Amino acid sequence: MTATLPSHEVAAGVTTWLSAFGDALSAGDTAAAAALFTEDCFWRDLVAFTWNIKTLEGRAAISAMLDQTLPGVQPRGWKITGGEEPAGAGGVVEAWIDFETAAGRGRGHLRLRDGRCWTLLTSLDELRGHEERRGPTRPKGIERRANPARTTWLEDREQEASELGITEQPYVLIIGGGQAGIGLGARLRQLRVPTIIIDKRSRPGDQWRSRYKSLCLHDPVWYDHMPYLKFPDNWPVFSPKDKIADWLESYTKIMELNYWPDTEATSAAYDARAGQWAVQVERDGELLVLRPAQLVLATGMSGRPNLPDFPGMDSFRGDQHHSSAHPGPGRYRGKRCVVIGSNNSAFDICGALWENGADVTMVQRSSTNIVRSATLMDIGLGALYSEEAVASGMTTDKADMVFASIPYRIMHQFQIPLYEQMRERDQEFYDRLEAAGFEHDWGDDGSGLFMKYLRRGSGYYIDVGAADLVANGDVALARGQVDRLTEDAVVLEDGTKLPADLVVYATGYQSMNGWAAELISQEVADRVGKCWGLGSDTTKDPGPWEGEQRNMWKPTQQQALWFHGGNLHQSRHYSLYLALQLKAREAGLPTPVYGLQEVHHLR
Ligand SMILES: Cc1cc2nc3c(=O)[nH]c(=O)nc-3n(C[C@H](O)[C@H](O)[C@H](O)COP(=O)(O)OP(=O)(O)OC[C@H]3O[C@@H](n4cnc5c(N)ncnc54)[C@H](O)[C@@H]3O)c2cc1C
Repeated sequence: MTATLPSHEVAAGVTTWLSAFGDALSAGDTAAAAALFTEDCFWRDLVAFTWNIKTLEGRAAISAMLDQTLPGVQPRGWKITGGEEPAGAGGVVEAWIDFETAAGRGRGHLRLRDGRCWTLLTSLDELRGHEERRGPTRPKGIERRANPARTTWLEDREQEASELGITEQPYVLIIGGGQAGIGLGARLRQLRVPTIIIDKRSRPGDQWRSRYKSLCLHDPVWYDHMPYLKFPDNWPVFSPKDKIADWLESYTKIMELNYWPDTEATSAAYDARAGQWAVQVERDGELLVLRPAQLVLATGMSGRPNLPDFPGMDSFRGDQHHSSAHPGPGRYRGKRCVVIGSNNSAFDICGALWENGADVTMVQRSSTNIVRSATLMDIGLGALYSEEAVASGMTTDKADMVFASIPYRIMHQFQIPLYEQMRERDQEFYDRLEAAGFEHDWGDDGSGLFMKYLRRGSGYYIDVGAADLVANGDVALARGQVDRLTEDAVVLEDGTKLPADLVVYATGYQSMNGWAAELISQEVADRVGKCWGLGSDTTKDPGPWEGEQRNMWKPTQQQALWFHGGNLHQSRHYSLYLALQLKAREAGLPTPVYGLQEVHHLR
């Protein structure tokens, strides 16, 4: 077992493998390179080889990819990352690696079993000649000589703002100035790509401000950092939504973004011959057309409400709205509130309504995975994103790369044991929930809520207290499908009548290609297909297997159209690869895309 090997032998094994791999690639011997992998191998590439986000599964897929990409990529300089000792445990040796390509410098991660590669991650980190100016190459910020034509930083910023989008066109237009849009905008700014971010709302962060007032982030602070600018050490573990909104607003200023508030994109069309979009926008009531080369929709994965269409909704006399429009509990004290849905938003809203003296019923239509927040932090995220992880030397960047190094095809195998531990720790809690009639699940294969998030973006609740309200009956539970609404009640298919003054539809969100339908055309939305999901053939994630998130952060079937979003961790990490793809195009580098994904589902 490698666990017993001395560290110099572990390192020697990695060096031997890297050297054989490097030699095979330099010789263009793709069969020899593929033979260095185990039969059940995976190679996940983030833009370095494929100009795509792509996982190759098995030796044949790897050699096919190399046959096509090797002449252009010209990889070289494979070595163990300085200061990172390879480690072996349980028969697997792990190592951090560096390499170079014709276009730039890359980083990666390697898992070896019996001297062969089981998983390989390669990621492009920077483009040669287009490096970000930071650390030793940071701008001076001052000109140390007399200059009658001297301009100040403020004057330069004002001039840029008066020209970009008016007399000069941006190379990239990002529609949507939430965390995704501004994180990507910050990276593009560092890469010197002329970019405008527009948002129809008045202030950056307004999307968070507009959400129900009890909302706090469900993920802890270490998971939530924006690119470049980390939260200070006194930031709460779970950020209240208005606090995160203020942070995002400050971020746009500090990162010097060209952010246009109160600016709504109303339509967009691509002129393939000119290589340019024409995007109609309404800015402070004024109509203008922006003509970027690249269009990014960062309009939100949780932005297009999935509003059900139940018979009788139009005759209901009380208040009714989607969870995204829920104003908070204040006005519903003493009222009968029916919340349809049993995932995060439903629980948060039920909890806040109950705290404010409402009479609350949750309608559960399908089963939910619930994990207690503290348990999830300890068992699910603790090793990578926690105070203890930081104390043991784990950085956010490294944690992101560890996550990225696990191929989606086998990620559930890593998750299942964690959720088994969670179940064991909180067994009494689950017994109480089930005794209350709550339908609970652990995902189709027991892999829990993180896989549910990746596969379908729904079906779970990270419990911050509201589950106990359901378990002890403070929030009433009704199970079944909604048949119709009457003037004053929700009626379920089994005839159960739930009198209501308020109905909240906590029924989730639609695929992001709906934004393309709304802004561009149904034809383009269909050409691009569904966004999100892995094709795992589990509930709400139909096959065939895709291996990566559909359409996210990578080229789509519509030239020059990109989708960006996800949670804070994904937005942070994958904005790097999207920014590099955009920069490479702006710089005129060859970016041949390997394995552009096929479209199997429209929504
Ligand atoms: C209730 C809830 C709780 C969540 N909790 C967490 C959490 O704890 N941790 C986490 O990481 N993630 C969480 N998320 C998921 C995700 O982080 C958020 O949805 C986040 O807001 C996504 O950021 P975004 O920038 O991708 O999109 P959004 O924040 O939705 O921003 C999209 C922006 O696009 C703008 N826009 C849309 N159309 C146009 C147009 N035509 N023209 C101009 N502007 C337009 C909108 O005004 C909006 O500001 C949560 C989501 C919800 C709904």
